[in-house]
Amino acid sequence: MTDTCDILISGGGIAGLTAAAAFGTAGFKVICVDPTPPITDGAADGADLRSTAMLQPARELLERAGLWEALAPHAAPLQVMRIIDAGGAEATPRVTQEFDASEISEQPFGWNFPNWLLRREMLARLEQLDNIDFRAGVSTKQLFTREGSAKVTLSDGVRVQTKLVIAADGRGSPMRAASGIGVHTQRYGQKALVFAVTHPIPHENVSTEIHRTGGPFTLVPLPDRDGKPCSAVVWMDDGRLAQNRMDVDVAAFEEEASLRSCHHFGPLTLVSRRQVWPIITQHAERLNAERVALIAEAAHVMPPIGAQGLNMSLNDIATLLDQAEARPDGLGDALMLEAYHKARYGDITLRVRGIDLLNRASQASSTLARDARAAGLGALYSAAPVRKLLMQMGLGMR
Ligand SMILES: Cc1cc2nc3c(=O)[nH]c(=O)nc-3n(C[C@H](O)[C@H](O)[C@H](O)COP(=O)(O)OP(=O)(O)OC[C@H]3O[C@@H](n4cnc5c(N)ncnc54)[C@H](O)[C@@H]3O)c2cc1C
Repeated sequence: MTDTCDILISGGGIAGLTAAAAFGTAGFKVICVDPTPPITDGAADGADLRSTAMLQPARELLERAGLWEALAPHAAPLQVMRIIDAGGAEATPRVTQEFDASEISEQPFGWNFPNWLLRREMLARLEQLDNIDFRAGVSTKQLFTREGSAKVTLSDGVRVQTKLVIAADGRGSPMRAASGIGVHTQRYGQKALVFAVTHPIPHENVSTEIHRTGGPFTLVPLPDRDGKPCSAVVWMDDGRLAQNRMDVDVAAFEEEASLRSCHHFGPLTLVSRRQVWPIITQHAERLNAERVALIAEAAHVMPPIGAQGLNMSLNDIATLLDQAEARPDGLGDALMLEAYHKARYGDITLRVRGIDLLNRASQASSTLARDARAAGLGALYSAAPVRKLLMQMGLGMR
């Protein structure tokens, strides 16, 4: 049996679901497949407990995809980004700098959402649109392309003929491999532990990144939970140490996490399970092959610093959508996909390199390197034009 569509999206992670909603809303006929049915309840086993800070420019795409209205009531605004260096002999802050969104804009830097909630609202949006066919429990298996179209065989035996395959199937992307596109990968021996906490001191919509050694400890605002201030935590550290903390009993874990947070918001109370994520930097050698476009982690993976990962993915989607709408007859042709590669590749490699450098600085274990990091933070912050430029670059405005 052969099905036809304009766009086949391989992967229904947050990037794939957003792409499906965006292209579906624009009127294209979309099939999106994923072997793992999305988990839309934060308390369920296997739920993605990470949160994603959608930066200011992301909002426009979420509006175009018909998603923003449903997401807005759940948004925790990020007004200030606070960076603390606690790399001295004691785990106490020695340099604290605050980057305030009001210096560059009337809006906050962005809005934070739990990943499981994003999935829930995205699936609800897909259900509203007749031209989107989301197939959970099905994966892409084989790819065959010609100049005029692609044929993809799915795990249930169905074949799909399409003009464009969007590979949103993650860091190990099977469609990227089937297209013969290689990757450059960098490993750090580092893992991120993610969990949610409540704390007695309010976060006041400030995202706080604390650097000591091993990687940043970041608290990102979430809406209150059980009437208490709540934050999503990403704690990056040496892989073995991070893994060991998965099994430490809750009281000891809370004590260690509170100490690592320099007691910034008071004692932390764990209110979620813990999950561990390997940290790598990776980018694809190209973003396109015949009838195939790579987006999101299929194209670029980086350490979770500065909320860049998914926000870059949304830029990938917005760029493809602009091109598809400008020339619908050329959907998926070589002209469109070459233009996509050219439009996105420079920005992707620049950001991948920048985040790699920041991550290495944050891992620093020697006293000298930690002192240099603290001095660097002070110097970057004290010059107002540099500070504003950094904030604009972080948001993707430059
Ligand atoms: C700890 C942590 C915190 C982060 N915080 C932020 C943040 O604050 N802001 C931000 O912008 N980014 C953040 N990121 C990055 C962001 O989470 C990722 O960029 C994003 O979740 C990746 O989305 P994705 O859809 O590309 O990949 P995935 O979520 O990996 O989705 C890929 C999907 O493809 C499916 N798949 C695999 N094989 C096939 C196949 N053959 N056929 C069909 N489907 C297939 C998989 O089942 C999966 O559902 C963070 C990352 C980490 C690790």
